[in-house]
Amino acid sequence: MMIVMKSSASEAEIEAVIDRIQSVGAVAHPSRGEEVTVIGAIGDREHVARLGLEGAPGVQQVVPILKPYKLASKQMRSDERSVFDIGGARIGGEHFALIAGPCTVESREQTVGTAHLVKEAGATMFRGGAYKPRTSPYAFHGLGEAGLRLLAEAKAETGLPIVTELMDVRDLEPVLEVADVIQVGARNMQNYTLLTELGRAGRPVLLKRGLSATLEELLMAAEYILKEGNPHVLLCERGIRTFETAYRFTLDLTAIPVLKELSHLPVVVDPSHAAGRRALVEPLSLAAAAAGADGIIVEVHPNPAEAVCDGPQAIVGDDFAAYAQRVEQAAAVAGKVFSTV
Ligand code: PEP
Ligand code: MN
Repeated sequence: MMIVMKSSASEAEIEAVIDRIQSVGAVAHPSRGEEVTVIGAIGDREHVARLGLEGAPGVQQVVPILKPYKLASKQMRSDERSVFDIGGARIGGEHFALIAGPCTVESREQTVGTAHLVKEAGATMFRGGAYKPRTSPYAFHGLGEAGLRLLAEAKAETGLPIVTELMDVRDLEPVLEVADVIQVGARNMQNYTLLTELGRAGRPVLLKRGLSATLEELLMAAEYILKEGNPHVLLCERGIRTFETAYRFTLDLTAIPVLKELSHLPVVVDPSHAAGRRALVEPLSLAAAAAGADGIIVEVHPNPAEAVCDGPQAIVGDDFAAYAQRVEQAAAVAGKVFSTV
């Protein structure tokens, strides 16, 4: 159930409603918007209904949340969009985040150099994987903690917030020391123990859509994180598997407006892993930005021919500034402004 408070409701009235929700064993998820406060009551619907909160002081109305993903649903925020502040960078609403960096952390020069390059071109955050999910068990799986230390150096030098992937909860502690946003890879979207831990860890999460996941499954995965009290989830469309074989994955652009219809959470698009080839990355980025994405996460490498992973899809470092400018123009078409730290 969702309890919509009056705009005039006092803090004491809000607290009283929360207490009553908790008194029947339900969990209260208050969401304080600019206009009104909405309190999600997640638990036995009958018990919450029996509280008769309709008549309680400060309460405007009590409505059932119709979707199975309660906290992720747009209804939960009374149609207000979530805007997150991540290390001084904003994302959501009218704020657009360009997240850029190499697929994989390879060396100090490659990592810190790329961070400077993308920062100068106007990027909002820096990405780079220290733990890499690879199709082949024989492939390079990242530098691990040594890679995290290089990301920390990149952050110290540029001030850019860091986005990096966590594959295994056993690595949570070192990742928390560096990451401003923890990425959950497509292959882990339904790793529910990982999602629950990240919900408890409280750090913002970039949740990538599984290769064959429906939007409802993506939102249910987000719900696992939100349910633990972490409201900062970024939904990421990164291409899905279809019958088409001419490119790596099919970037589902329709997911952008549909996710925004269904949820208040920001929507980020990854054109790199969808495309699999450099030539497609810019057109897909422009389309995503113009379609209203709240951000793009894109792979950039100073010398893609030598990249240990995903070189063919990386934007060449020297081309990145021009690319960023065009993405900025496309985002402006959708009424968004680039966010910088
Ligand atoms: C990545 O971002 O480097 C990555 C491996 O992405 P995905 O999980 O979407 O394949
Ligand atoms: Mn990659």
